[in-house]
Amino acid sequence: MFFKDVIGQERLKRQLIHNFKQQRTGHALLFYGSEGTGTVALSLAFARYILCVNRTDGDACGACASCIKMNKLAHPDLHFFFPSAPNQEHKKEVSSKLFVNQWRELLLDTPYFSYFQWLQKLGVENKQAIINAEDCNDIIRVLGMKSYESPYRIIYIYMVDKLYYSAAPKILKILEEPPQNTIFLMMSDNKDRILNTILSRTQIMRIPPPGEEEIAGGLTEKFGIEPKKAREASFLADGSVSDALKYCYRDEEQMADLESFRSWMLACFRNKQDDIIDWVNDIATAGREKQRSFFLYGLNIFRMCLLQNYDAETLIRTGEQERAFIKKFARYVNHRNIIQIVEAFNLAIVHLDRNANARILFSDLSFRVHSLMRAGTG
Ligand SMILES: [Zn+2]
Repeated sequence: MFFKDVIGQERLKRQLIHNFKQQRTGHALLFYGSEGTGTVALSLAFARYILCVNRTDGDACGACASCIKMNKLAHPDLHFFFPSAPNQEHKKEVSSKLFVNQWRELLLDTPYFSYFQWLQKLGVENKQAIINAEDCNDIIRVLGMKSYESPYRIIYIYMVDKLYYSAAPKILKILEEPPQNTIFLMMSDNKDRILNTILSRTQIMRIPPPGEEEIAGGLTEKFGIEPKKAREASFLADGSVSDALKYCYRDEEQMADLESFRSWMLACFRNKQDDIIDWVNDIATAGREKQRSFFLYGLNIFRMCLLQNYDAETLIRTGEQERAFIKKFARYVNHRNIIQIVEAFNLAIVHLDRNANARILFSDLSFRVHSLMRAGTG
């Protein structure tokens, strides 16, 4: 990943380079932005730039020994940390170092991925992954040694908001005053979940979503996607490159979400107990992150229904089949029930995050949705 491979973000690229040349790069940077906007891409390009021994004006050289190692993300002075959880292969006591190969694979495939894709890669999509105490021990251990090749050492922490709260105190001191030439590059899409003690020690760089044109151009130029499809995907993705890629590559998964949502809503509306139970049993076996993303999917559908109802159709960003569904479904979602529906979904997400029993959670929500939909037609 070079700066030139990052979609959009020209101002931030210039700022990163400028600060680095002026030796004003903070020792802990937080790349903060919504999933898929380029927090990983930009920070990775910056890591390459820092480690390159032959930097040009605006990018790493691509030819030095360091750049060659970066082609495989195997530079000995770049240390990756990320959320992990026990999987089929490693059943307990896991930490980032066990999964660094999977991590490299995903990143080399594309740095525009979603957190859910990372969990899928680990095979832990039904678990909550964290950055744990062993990771923090490893950070301290790494920084206790000399750097190998570069004058710089980079501690790269993906999703620092998943740093387990009781492990965090271990690294506070080192984050406050790291050894010389050590740079923490951290990413997050949820600042509210980052521990304050961590946040206060970082320099925050807000990563805005790239523009629609930038994404469309990037998809064609860097991913070889045909311009018409790229334009459609960038329109639908609303600033997320990973979503845009998803639209390009995975129409099917979207369709499955729509199909599932449609049959659920129909069963709720008609109060068909057998159908509801079948549906609940089905979703209950999906992973927690999948369930979470399904709730978010539902919330987005409701939002689009409102736009439909308020004649703001031009703001609806979706494909043909979803649009057709929303046209019909929108009449059940209105001022009589929308606030309660959104509250019910948000509450369900909170309970899900607190490890509520999925069967009970989805059953309760189904009954709630049933009465709210009835209220909407009343
Ligand atoms: Zn180089």
